[in-house]
Amino acid sequence: MSSLNDYIKFTLDIEDKNIIFSDYSNENINGKIYKIYLAELIQPTCPYCRSTNLKHNGHYVSNVRFITADASKPVTIRLRKQRVLCNDCLKRSMAQSNLVNKGCYISNTSKRKILSALTEDRSMTSIAREHNVSVNTVQRVLEVCSSKFYDAFDHLPEHLAFDEFKGVGKKLHFICLDGDTHKVVQILRTRFKPDILRYFYKFTPKARAMVKTVTMDLNCYYPLVARELFPNAQIVIDRFHMVQMLTRSFNIFRVQIMKQFNKRSREYKLLKSPWKLYLMKYDKLNKTTPYYDWHFKDCLTQEHVVLDGLDCDQTLENTYWVMQDFMTAIQDNDEKKVIHLLHSKQNVGKQMHQTLLTFKRNYSGVLNGITSTYSNGCLEGVNRKIKQIERTAYGYRNFKHLLIRIRLEENIIKEKESNSYFLAA
Ligand SMILES: [Zn+2]
Repeated sequence: MSSLNDYIKFTLDIEDKNIIFSDYSNENINGKIYKIYLAELIQPTCPYCRSTNLKHNGHYVSNVRFITADASKPVTIRLRKQRVLCNDCLKRSMAQSNLVNKGCYISNTSKRKILSALTEDRSMTSIAREHNVSVNTVQRVLEVCSSKFYDAFDHLPEHLAFDEFKGVGKKLHFICLDGDTHKVVQILRTRFKPDILRYFYKFTPKARAMVKTVTMDLNCYYPLVARELFPNAQIVIDRFHMVQMLTRSFNIFRVQIMKQFNKRSREYKLLKSPWKLYLMKYDKLNKTTPYYDWHFKDCLTQEHVVLDGLDCDQTLENTYWVMQDFMTAIQDNDEKKVIHLLHSKQNVGKQMHQTLLTFKRNYSGVLNGITSTYSNGCLEGVNRKIKQIERTAYGYRNFKHLLIRIRLEENIIKEKESNSYFLAA
């Protein structure tokens, strides 16, 4: 073996014994400088009968794209693959190597590097540019990985969390998480009932019986779906979602009352500008230091502002206290107080009345949400990450690509899965 061959193999980190480098050069192809390595790939034995009695039959030349540190100078290995005719079994064959798959001109080293780049928060265009390949190649490497999150249908986590997020084509996708490990169980293209049912019916009845709780927001059919699918599961309404519903219904009513007053009146101003104070917990309001507010030209403490504002309307005041008491009860996991609140006959705003009615309709779920330690808080992190993935790519058109990317960045692609592809020459 020549020392040049050893040296090039050492620099390029190629170990295949059948590849022999003979020369190197710089070549100008379409105005771009390429570093070209010349190599021959030899075929020592017949792949069918292992015979060494071979008749050489020329070469097949293929330009293999290799990794490079400097993206402006692409590295190409001009590989001359030996073609042979076996004198024993009379079969023709061409030399193959782990360096590159059959019929492909992008080295597996490049593909492996592209795959590892795909696990980072980067756009496919930037990855393609760095590795001197087309975006389609990057997508093809991406498609090697499976988009399935869960492949065994005989087991389900004990605690599930249901939610949705906005994805491909501004559609809402259904997402299900493991409440303990916070790993994605499944993402479905749509969030419609038949699709959710179809997916979970793939699991065995035994697996579905394993589920103990399902956390969800108050989407009208999620509780129905959960009851149908998981016979032993308790429905837990997400407590953050409950707080959100309460504050939203208070806000709508506050604006309604506000609009009854003249825009220049003190009442209007009291209800408009300090809207954030109404949503704060009452205990957290500042009750000692007054501050001057130029909106209503007065020196008041935060507590004063809220109480003065509530004085404008009795129903508004009732609504406020229902919201506050509910929020405290949720914070203290106080089940009794919630039961009391749900049955109180106070005169509250229309939206708040609706919200309380919805809570009553999902009575056990709401109570579970108050006492349970599970919530949809874990979904926030995952949804945020998905949003980031979509933002980096300026959106995805292909739902499957989005799923694989989520899997890659969540680090749940198994080593085996990717290796099996690259090693199959
Ligand atoms: Zn043979």
